[in-house]
Amino acid sequence: MLPDDKKRALARELSQIAGSAHVITSPVELEAYGYDASLESARPDLVVLPASTAEVAEIVRLACAMRVPVVARGAGTSVSGGSVPVEGGVMIAFSRMNRILEIDPENLCATVEPGVVNLDLSRATAPHGLRYLPDPSSQKTCTLGGNVAENAGGLLCFRYGVTVNHVTGLELVTADGEICQIGGKAPGAPGYDLLGVLTGSEGTLGIFTKITVRLMPLPRSSCTVLASYGSVDEASATVAEVVASGIVPAALEMMDREIIHAVEAYVGAGYPLDAEAVLIMELEGDPRAVEAQAVRIDAICKRNQAREVRLSRDAEERERLWSGRKGALGAVARLRPRYYLHDGVVPRSRLVGTLREVQAIGKRYRLQIVNVFHAGDGNLHPMILFDTRDADETARVRKAGDEIIRACVAAGGTITGEHGIGIEKRHLMPLIFTPDDLSAMARLKHAFDPDGLLNPGKIFPTGALCGDVKPVAA
Ligand SMILES: Cc1cc2nc3c(=O)[nH]c(=O)nc-3n(C[C@H](O)[C@H](O)[C@H](O)COP(=O)(O)OP(=O)(O)OC[C@H]3O[C@@H](n4cnc5c(N)ncnc54)[C@H](O)[C@@H]3O)c2cc1C
Repeated sequence: MLPDDKKRALARELSQIAGSAHVITSPVELEAYGYDASLESARPDLVVLPASTAEVAEIVRLACAMRVPVVARGAGTSVSGGSVPVEGGVMIAFSRMNRILEIDPENLCATVEPGVVNLDLSRATAPHGLRYLPDPSSQKTCTLGGNVAENAGGLLCFRYGVTVNHVTGLELVTADGEICQIGGKAPGAPGYDLLGVLTGSEGTLGIFTKITVRLMPLPRSSCTVLASYGSVDEASATVAEVVASGIVPAALEMMDREIIHAVEAYVGAGYPLDAEAVLIMELEGDPRAVEAQAVRIDAICKRNQAREVRLSRDAEERERLWSGRKGALGAVARLRPRYYLHDGVVPRSRLVGTLREVQAIGKRYRLQIVNVFHAGDGNLHPMILFDTRDADETARVRKAGDEIIRACVAAGGTITGEHGIGIEKRHLMPLIFTPDDLSAMARLKHAFDPDGLLNPGKIFPTGALCGDVKPVAA
């Protein structure tokens, strides 16, 4: 935390830049900005809500001159502690920079401010027959700035790729407050792929103030398939056969028994309560191609012992089938007061074994774990249910979480598919990166942020500002 006199001086200067109504200093309000959707929390010294790129640049220049950390915040839905200001400092919250600046149907792109909510963009582009594809389950709340910083994925990313595949331009405020333009409307700018470096950088390399993304035409027709199974193994075998068949559904999701029951009680999506697992698949494209794919998928599901295969007849039924999957995380509130949403990736061929291992870990730590995940991508999201008021249970949750990630790595996978490293997984980085890898990353961080003021304490195992990244024991 900053000393009081420095904090007061900073508040005065920030008020000059953004207006005193847009600088938060009250401890109670600051507390609210200290959380995201992870298990971590830490209070910022001050929060400022700028209205323009020029204000952001001034704020960053001021923080740089006063050697104060700067943490960007979108909607605070990060599940890895991304926006938790572990070293205090100034938090830049983007709730006022939430305008869609341009929808450009001719160039199939849109330019937005970072505080635009993901779903609002697709709603705004729909009348043009267009959509923005990466659709995290948090899309009603999370922002494009947070999506780019975390390289977010979503249901449709199996077929269309994650955020990095959809960003063509960024306006960036650098660590010393310079405003830069990287890329633009035209994809494939020459030179080093800085968009690739910045997407997924978790607020540690620069602050995005404008984002240009690709838009894609809305599909001409869609069909949702719900297949239910007597075992997770049969559902997983279906996933493998669908992918091997050459059909690439837009989305390919799996939910296990516990989550099906929670969802049914909450949403009433019509899922069969006697199933051990369900698959939900989205087929889309030319109507005749969708019809032909539906016939083939139906046969594959049945060959793998599906008890029932349901094909949506209309938009209303599609929406109902997806409402269960999209409401799954809210539904678990019926089971326990809190969940720890994990994120690991395994090769698809290792899904069954890893899911068994996840259940064994749950048993070992006496924890209930439910699963809803992007099966097509091998991106597991075990949700460990618990109650934060029980300190012993909370400690077991953290240990079980680490073991799940180790199991993913042991299966040839990796430590995150879409939620980022943040604070949550920095100590697990040495599982997949050597000390040399980590120092190369630290040198990159140093090139963008030599004083280590941008979102310090994230990604690197030591939590150091930058430079020293000796791995801790994993
Ligand atoms: C219920 C639920 C479901 C979820 N489902 C998914 C899912 O399906 N797929 C998925 O990928 N994630 C998912 N998430 C995780 C989360 O929603 C995403 O990581 C999302 O991209 C975070 O966006 P945000 O606006 O909330 O960002 P925040 O949490 O506010 O910030 C996240 C990171 O982005 C940085 N940041 C924010 N704005 C900027 C900016 N303008 N410039 C630079 N850095 C910035 C922050 O510093 C921080 O490091 C889910 C979370 C929840 C709670």
